[in-house]
Amino acid sequence: LLDQALARVEAAGSLNALVSLNEQAAAQAAAVSRRLASGEALPLAGVPVTVKDNINVAGTRTTCGSRILATYVSPYTATAAQRLIDAGAVIVGKTNMDEFGMGSSTESSASGATLNPWDVARVPGGSSGGSAVAVAANLTPVSLGSDTGGSVRQPAAMTGVYGLKPTYGRVSRYGLVAYASSLDQIGPFARSAADLALMMSVLAGHDPRDATSLEVPARFQAGTPDDLRGLRVGVIRESLGGNTSGVDAALNATLEALRAGGAVCGEVSIPDLRHAIATYYLIAMPEASSNLARYDGMVYGQRAVGGDVGEVMTLTREHGFGREVQRRIMIGTYALSSGYYDAYYSKAMKVRRLIAQEFSRAFQDFDVLVTPTSPFPAFRRGEKTSDPLAMYAADVDTVAVNLAGLPAMSVPAGFELAEGGVRLPVGVQFIAPALKDELLVRLAGALE
Ligand code: GLN
Repeated sequence: LLDQALARVEAAGSLNALVSLNEQAAAQAAAVSRRLASGEALPLAGVPVTVKDNINVAGTRTTCGSRILATYVSPYTATAAQRLIDAGAVIVGKTNMDEFGMGSSTESSASGATLNPWDVARVPGGSSGGSAVAVAANLTPVSLGSDTGGSVRQPAAMTGVYGLKPTYGRVSRYGLVAYASSLDQIGPFARSAADLALMMSVLAGHDPRDATSLEVPARFQAGTPDDLRGLRVGVIRESLGGNTSGVDAALNATLEALRAGGAVCGEVSIPDLRHAIATYYLIAMPEASSNLARYDGMVYGQRAVGGDVGEVMTLTREHGFGREVQRRIMIGTYALSSGYYDAYYSKAMKVRRLIAQEFSRAFQDFDVLVTPTSPFPAFRRGEKTSDPLAMYAADVDTVAVNLAGLPAMSVPAGFELAEGGVRLPVGVQFIAPALKDELLVRLAGALE
């Protein structure tokens, strides 16, 4: 299986989905054979997996798509990756991403852009675009991404695979390089509901090394059409305007399938969703500015040559960080500075609370909420790179979920026909109450 995966990775090299291969993969595969021979039962025995390049795997490079970490080799393994290894998976390599997870297109990586296999002129979404493409192009059956504001769900939608962002705290963040710590979660990509269930069973669970990790039992299973009967599904009204016709059609087809299976669909309003993008970026950027302070050339990765320590740090950060990362550090620092803290960061924290409360209210009437995952399918490479606000707007349907800490999943829901007869995948997002990740996985199976 490993050889097969490596051959596929090589054949699909032009997609630029992977940034490095795991040199210990063969040894890992041999260890799995030994464990199987000694009678161990392994839920992921020999399954080749790929892991986003902001998740540490001992002995592999962890670049986070950044020049500043180009030579950084991780001395330890993230809990999520370790859980895969313990379950018998073999880590084939690390996947490409927007620098430090800051983007929606996987174009800002120091390793170059990742291409969408459905149309190589288009982006795969982001920031976990490499992990999405690894699964969509059949390089590995499953992969890991991270989702701070949509980075698993949005690329899953744009490449036609499943992507799940767990409830904040259900999957350990230990060993995930921090972008915005109160929003970050690791989540799986998969091509089937059964694979999604298997991945969540292995990934979810308490980790004493992550102070925000939750202790809740996990039992994931893909559902059957029977699970739709009586399910109360709320369509979020604020997500209905401004979508492309293909996205509207996919959402309607999903609602029809839900109704046909016996679900009861209605509309629900989350009024403060209109502030979600502004609120998200006023929380994500300050947290990022604080988290990225550690890359000063002293401990991690690359160090520039300079006259004194101040100059070394300045030059290291100037040469090491890309433009979007620098922009976010500056805006984040500004929003945290005394005199502006109350106007920006502190206000965003209050709106965050309001959004979470509006979700709770919606869940009094509905078991699950639904929106498009993105207002549009995969866009063309270069289309949004010169307009940061247009890039931020791509997250309009996903960021509120992270603000509220909820679990959400993107499900393949159809295609939009683009010029030249190109089929572009479209995803629909399901949002569940906190800790109801199991319901999402069941629903994925019920709709398959
Ligand atoms: N596109 C969003 C951002 O740039 C989300 C990124 C993510 O989830 N890592 O912040």
